[in-house]
Amino acid sequence: MSGRLYQINPICPQCKEEHMWWNVRLTDEEQKKLDHHTEVHKAESELYSLLSEPAIIITRKLKCGECGVEFEARVGIWKEMEVGWHHPDFVDVGTHML
Ligand SMILES: [Zn+2]
Repeated sequence: MSGRLYQINPICPQCKEEHMWWNVRLTDEEQKKLDHHTEVHKAESELYSLLSEPAIIITRKLKCGECGVEFEARVGIWKEMEVGWHHPDFVDVGTHML
């Protein structure tokens, strides 16, 4: 596992809670694929990147903080989901504009 964290926001399949965030690490192989994708698309703007297909899709077992059900989430990862990534044109992931 690499040391970089990514924030994911899947919806709970049972209670449909959609405002939960998990920080996940990628496996070395997933990180390598994401880095490769980033390199290939580095000339593109962040907005374009976010509207494109995700660089990778990961599967993680998660436990819902609301109803407690454990579920397997399949989520796309964009480099912009890395914790600490931010851009002046975007509101940081997980934060709200006042
Ligand atoms: Zn739930």
